[in-house]
Amino acid sequence: MTKASIGLVGLGVMGRNLVLNIERNGFSVAVYNKTQSKMHAFLQGEAAGKRITGSDSYTSLVEQLERPRRILLMVTAGAAVDGVIEEIKPHLEPGDILIDGGNSFFLDTERRSVALTAEGFHFVGMGVSGGEEGALWGPSIMPGGSRESWEALRPILEKIAAKAEEDGAPCVAYMGPRGAGHYVKTVHNGIEYADMQLIAEIYDLLSRGAGLSAAELADVFAAWNQGELRSYLIEITAAILRRVDEWTGQPLVDVILDEAQQKGTGKWTSQNAFDIGAPIPTINAAVESRILSGLKSERVAASRVLHGPTGHYTGNRSELIEAARAALYAGKVLAYAQGMSLLRTASQEYQYNFDLAEIARIWRAGCIIRASLLGNITNAYRRNPGLTNLLLDDAFREAVETRQGALRRVVQTAIELGIPALALSSALAYYDAYRSERLPANLTQAQRDFFGAHTYRRVDREGIFHTEWGSA
Ligand code: NAP
Repeated sequence: MTKASIGLVGLGVMGRNLVLNIERNGFSVAVYNKTQSKMHAFLQGEAAGKRITGSDSYTSLVEQLERPRRILLMVTAGAAVDGVIEEIKPHLEPGDILIDGGNSFFLDTERRSVALTAEGFHFVGMGVSGGEEGALWGPSIMPGGSRESWEALRPILEKIAAKAEEDGAPCVAYMGPRGAGHYVKTVHNGIEYADMQLIAEIYDLLSRGAGLSAAELADVFAAWNQGELRSYLIEITAAILRRVDEWTGQPLVDVILDEAQQKGTGKWTSQNAFDIGAPIPTINAAVESRILSGLKSERVAASRVLHGPTGHYTGNRSELIEAARAALYAGKVLAYAQGMSLLRTASQEYQYNFDLAEIARIWRAGCIIRASLLGNITNAYRRNPGLTNLLLDDAFREAVETRQGALRRVVQTAIELGIPALALSSALAYYDAYRSERLPANLTQAQRDFFGAHTYRRVDREGIFHTEWGSA
């Protein structure tokens, strides 16, 4: 009997679609799912007539695979991954490759990688982005682990990955050792949070502030999607704003509860950025905005007693819409600058040796943050792989410089109208802080020395200083 090219454990939403994608691209797949009835339904349904075979145990799964075995786990992140690894391990042989394609926390991947490598196995922590559709038709794939395992997986991954419009290149590349792939996926999701929040704030300003209807906004976003903002998130925003609720006849977006949920990858990005000392205020603002949205009942009560401006924009609407477009682009560039800088810091911290041009390249298609902007980011890092910050690339420096007026105007308008713009304003503040030769941290240092004798350094001479400040 010919052996299957790859095995897959976990026929959930992502697992099922990845199996169909892999099979469509010419590989046979052996599958296993803990709840066997789901596997049988899949085999008799979508998988019928395809080179997809079922297994009733890990023993049978492993027996069906060519060696070295490649087994992709698409199970719920966390304890389930450890559970499956422990159950499957006794059936494996040295050199076999286990791949975790879920959204695992990168430090869990580090731990699993070290333990499994010591036992002679390969462990690949692989970020997969693109949701259900991406898994089926071509996701962006971020694998980390040994180079040897990457070479063994490469033929399959390059076939199933999304292909970039610009050059047809597959959106997959080797990210680096151990947890590198899951780290990159985490930062991808952090940038995704920021991108979504920036769009949400622009939507809020234009709808609540300037009174544009959902249908008008759908036209605005659809038009924006033809220009420099062209991206998956702008495209789906236009489609969402156009959808009418079948029950009420109102725009569906207006009847959706304003409490944003999260599964934690955005939070991990912020937590890790704090750990390694990388400033990502716009991603943090996006995480915080979701948390704030969750305080719905508190907000409803507070809205009755806390007063502030609630006025409507009375200026020229077309001008505000154009400023919003430019501000959104600038905000996105600033959020990417933060995310890419975080990757740069993490690369040193964890010895991941990231290639930032390659990371931007594989985000050009398949994933949620895919955008025409990513082609420009790829080029910026190709021009200068050692670029300290995206904002220092000539093209991006100019892009933000020429749009900062619009960003300032949009933030000012939001402030005047009492509309929260945590992400937009943090993006602007990041720009202003990053371009400030001198920040007020001198005063902070003096205060720390005053109350805690924490010492300070001076601008005019070497050494560590402490002042006896006396009492206040
Ligand atoms: P899902 O639909 O909830 O499916 C979860 C799968 O995990 C099921 O097949 C389930 O088996 C299996 N599982 C759970 N606990 C298990 C255990 N202890 N032992 C063996 N199998 C177990 O999840 P999903 O959306 O496909 O996501 C899978 C992974 O991909 C997650 O890490 C997720 O974060 C990540 N991801 C999801 C998306 C997305 O858009 N959905 C995108 C990128 C990444 P049973 O059928 O027996 O319960």
